[in-house]
Amino acid sequence: MNAIVISIGDEILSGDILNTNSQFISKSLKEQNIEVSKIYTIRDNIEDIINSTKESLAHSDIIIVTGGLGPTEDDKTREGVAEALNYNLVLDDSLLKEIKDKFTKNNYIMSDNNIKQAYRIENSIVLKNTKGTAPGMLVNYHNKKIFLLPGPPRELQPMFNKYVLDSLRNKSDQKIFTRTIHTIGIGESHLEEKIKPFFNNNIQIGMYANNGIVDIKVSSKASCLSQAKNNVNAFLNSIDIDKYIWGFDEETLESIVLELLKKNNLTIGFAESLTGGLISSNFTRLSGVSEVFPLSLITYSNASKINLLGVKKETLKEYGAVSKETAIEMAEGLVKKYEVDIALSVTGIAGPTGATKNKPVGLVFIGIANKKISISKKIILNGDRNNIQNRTSLNAFSTLRN
Ligand code: ATP
Ligand code: MG
Repeated sequence: MNAIVISIGDEILSGDILNTNSQFISKSLKEQNIEVSKIYTIRDNIEDIINSTKESLAHSDIIIVTGGLGPTEDDKTREGVAEALNYNLVLDDSLLKEIKDKFTKNNYIMSDNNIKQAYRIENSIVLKNTKGTAPGMLVNYHNKKIFLLPGPPRELQPMFNKYVLDSLRNKSDQKIFTRTIHTIGIGESHLEEKIKPFFNNNIQIGMYANNGIVDIKVSSKASCLSQAKNNVNAFLNSIDIDKYIWGFDEETLESIVLELLKKNNLTIGFAESLTGGLISSNFTRLSGVSEVFPLSLITYSNASKINLLGVKKETLKEYGAVSKETAIEMAEGLVKKYEVDIALSVTGIAGPTGATKNKPVGLVFIGIANKKISISKKIILNGDRNNIQNRTSLNAFSTLRN
């Protein structure tokens, strides 16, 4: 079974936003064993909407249209799809009442534009949007299903999960089971060499590399879920890459570190130089960090390293800010002066300027200290400034995990 996605919006074609909706939809459908055979990305233009809807109908039984359901003049999805199907738009009384109630409740004046959102396509059912104003629609057209969903991802995603997946889930005669393995410290091609001898017809493998992390997605399709699960597990048991694996599925390096700290009842702080707060920011994306994370310091200049962390002037003079010695003194200083059990520091050269003969762009020192011992680690990262900062953060969490 396959599906076609039509993403509508001038802002996608102008490059102002990335079409993450189609990525989300393709990924989710693949997990249901439904392949997306084509993705259209088109403007908010009625002719384009009509044409791509017609073309899609000729090639697929499932069409997912996103965007352009808003109340404004530029949103033409409803009209375009209706016209392609030769269906009328009908005023839906209950939708109209809902919209009116919403406006009354919030003391807003309803404009004529808003009435537009009370129209649905003939032979469609309305899909409730709990996160926004634009309702979605499922149009039944002969034996085909056309889903119309709003553009904003935070509205689209729950609606997709609720309505699209639910109505398609049982269509597929096969069940699919997937596990994702997260690795670090080995390149994509080396990793592939190691696991390739164990490839077999029962599993499908996808490998994705990003900033030094390589994910292996292992899936299996079978007539029942337990068989698919067994196939995946058999493959996982056969490969020998344990030393590179740091997690599975939804886990992130940050979440693993958080769990470790919670389990051991320890707090952590970061003394950041080249990352300028990125490590702390990545960590605080997780809810629940407040239990283990009292503070961080961004000490970018030598003076701040001296004044806030107690790094010795002589150390900076003799070894430089980017050195094992400075990294260790930064971490030790944070533990000594502030209320943290463990401190992690980073100092390095993010580039593109600032390199010297002995200190290339990408040279990074990580320091870790508790009240008793301190250690350091030297790494050399490649990539542009952004990559180096991101990879420093990943390496920091990867080091803490050990
Ligand atoms: P609204 O009532 O919010 O306008 P809508 O269905 O008309 O709903 P659009 O106007 O198409 O939605 O899109 C609104 C916003 O949603 C866009 O500005 C953009 O930020 C986001 N968006 C739209 N399409 C996509 C997409 N394919 N991928 C990611 N984000 C998208
Ligand atoms: Mg729009």
